[in-house]
Amino acid sequence: MTSDPFFHPVSGMELPRYAGIPTFMRLPLVQPDHARFEEVEIGLVGVPWDSGTTNRPGPRHGPRQLRDASTMIRAEHGHFDIRPFEAAACADLGDVAPNPADIQDSMARITAFYDKIVAAGIRPLTGGGDHLCSLPVLRALGKAKPLGMVHFDSHTDLWDSYFGGFKYTHGTPFRRAVEEGLLDPKRIVQIGIRGPMYDHEDRDFARAEGIRIIPIEEFHARGVADVMAEAREIVGTEPTYVSYDIDFVDPTFAPGTGTPEIGGPNSYQALQVVRELMGLNIVGADLVEVSPPFDSSGGTAFLGVTIMFELLCAMVGRGMVSQGK
Ligand code: MN
Ligand code: MN
Repeated sequence: MTSDPFFHPVSGMELPRYAGIPTFMRLPLVQPDHARFEEVEIGLVGVPWDSGTTNRPGPRHGPRQLRDASTMIRAEHGHFDIRPFEAAACADLGDVAPNPADIQDSMARITAFYDKIVAAGIRPLTGGGDHLCSLPVLRALGKAKPLGMVHFDSHTDLWDSYFGGFKYTHGTPFRRAVEEGLLDPKRIVQIGIRGPMYDHEDRDFARAEGIRIIPIEEFHARGVADVMAEAREIVGTEPTYVSYDIDFVDPTFAPGTGTPEIGGPNSYQALQVVRELMGLNIVGADLVEVSPPFDSSGGTAFLGVTIMFELLCAMVGRGMVSQGK
C-alpha cells in the first residue's frame, strides 16, 4: 500500500494526457540507480528487442509505442474496486538496453537487469519486445524454483530449433525455459493455440512434458470462465508467471503484430481472461509482440497497454492488498 504521491501517476486532471514525457501509465521513472528503486513493488519494464523474430520484425519499437498509448490509462479499474497505483508502489523502471547485433549478449543483459529487479523484491511487468524476451526474464525469475505459467498465444513457442539447429528464436523460449528448469511443465497452460503449423513437434513435446494446451476451438466452445477455471487449477497457488502474446487476440482487433492468426478472441475476451487471473500468486508478467510498423492505427498498442493494466490489477489483487513489502 502506498499513499506516497511520488508513486502515483500524473493525473489527466492536472496535466492533459497528451502532454508530458510518456512513461508507462504516467508513472515515475525509477531506474535501478534511483534512490527509491528498492521501494518499488511492481515495476514496468520495456524490453525493446526483437532479434528472436523469424518473420515480420518490429516489436523492438513496442515499448516506446506502448508507453505513448499508455497515457490513456486512468487510476481506477472500471470493473473491480481497485486503484492499483495506490495498492502498490508502481514505477516505470525504464528500458533494458539490448545489443541488437548479438542474441546471447542481449539475453545476458536482460537477465542481469531482471536480477536487480528480483534482488530488490520487485515484481516485473514487461512490455516487449518479441517473445524470446520471456526467456532471459525467466532466467532471473525462475532461478530459485521453477514457476507455473499461464500463457496466452496463438502459438506454443515450444519449438526445438529453426534454420538448421538455431535454438533461440521467438518460437522456442518455453522449450528452453522447461529444459533449463525455469518452468514446471506440469504447471503450464497454453491458451488460444491455432493456425497452420509446420508440423506436430511442438505438441509432441507438450504432451511428453505434461503441458496443457487449450486450442482455440476448445476456448470458443467452453467460454472464458470455464477455461480460466481450469487454468487456475493447473497453476495453483504457487508462484506463477503470466506471458501474453498479443497475437492471442484476433487480428481484427490486434493487426499490429508479426505472426497474426485468424479466429481468435475479441478485444473484450482479451481482457476477461486476465481478470480471471485475480487471486493467483503472480510473480511477473509480460505483454509481447506488439509491432508498431504493422500497427498503422495504433490500436494494437492501445489494446496491449490495456491488457498490461489488467495484468497490473491482477498482480495487485483484490481489495487493494499489497502483496509486496
Ligand atoms: Mn509467442
Ligand atoms: Mn504468437
